[in-house]
Amino acid sequence: MKLINLLKQDTLSLSFEVFPPKVDSSFESVKAATEEIARLKPAFMSVTYGAGGGTSKYTLDIAKNIKDLYGVSTLAHLTCVSSTRKTVHEKIKEIKEAGIENVMALRGDIPEDMDLSHQETWHYHHAIDLIRELKESGADFCIGGACYPEIHPESANQKEDIKHLKEKVDAGCQFLTTQMFFDNNLLYNFLYKIREAGITVPVVAGIMPITNANQVDRAIKLSGSHMPQRFKSLVDKFGSDPAAMKQAGIAYATDQIIDLFANNVTNVHVYSMNKPDVAEKIQSNLSDILGK
Ligand code: FAD
Repeated sequence: MKLINLLKQDTLSLSFEVFPPKVDSSFESVKAATEEIARLKPAFMSVTYGAGGGTSKYTLDIAKNIKDLYGVSTLAHLTCVSSTRKTVHEKIKEIKEAGIENVMALRGDIPEDMDLSHQETWHYHHAIDLIRELKESGADFCIGGACYPEIHPESANQKEDIKHLKEKVDAGCQFLTTQMFFDNNLLYNFLYKIREAGITVPVVAGIMPITNANQVDRAIKLSGSHMPQRFKSLVDKFGSDPAAMKQAGIAYATDQIIDLFANNVTNVHVYSMNKPDVAEKIQSNLSDILGK
């Protein structure tokens, strides 16, 4: 199913993200975690492409399993910045052949060792270049893109960031998923600004449950997200007790999601980090709200 049909509805939706294994030998454990999350029958599941050290070669296999074996709508991520045109064309062909209808078109992070002196020779500079390729491929993909309530770390300011976001949407991006954030007011403010800029596509709110203290620094480094005092206090108090931290992190994420739903943000995507127990707990915390 094309995700745009789901995301446009007024009904509340909860979806989950998984990432491919970091090493070949972990494929079976990732497959098992994916299956457990899929059994929750989320609105859809996304599969990252190489993010967080995962190997990109399994993205499609996992995305195909989600759709074909577990009957859940799937969203395959694809990045472009460090790829050749040939690789991207092959990937698009494989996505098409796998019958995957939804693609998250991303630039990807620029690898630290990438030679930046010949940027004029790069074929892909931004996600918009990949969106154009996907549109030109002839397949009728439903295309998503990333957005940043706290601005992308490389952007000079929010106005510039939103200007490029609008270009991305105008090029064919049909929905946006946000970077993680821990303060809902940042999202509400961002939504106001993008709507004012004429961006009307559905925005899926990305929520990362922080279930152990070690995740905090990494999450801030990756996303540049602001940690509200309420969240910092929780980590200070419970960070050294793994079980308590997990419970508190899940409660914090649940609370964020309830507030989002209450404020008419109808689609929430949980960065569930291949943890079925976390996904299950969050979904069961929301069971009556979601009618599940
Ligand atoms: P872009 O949209 O290209 O934006 C990057 C920067 O360039 C921004 O500052 C933007 O304002 C600017 N910009 C955009 N267009 C132009 C233009 N035409 N001219 C000048 N400047 C421009 N990474 C992975 O490797 N794999 C994943 O699976 C993955 N999934 C993600 C999912 C979500 C929901 C999010 C939020 C991020 C994800 N990432 C993933 C990380 C992402 O690849 C990085 O954040 C990357 O640095 C930017 O990707 P983008 O698609 O947002 O880039």
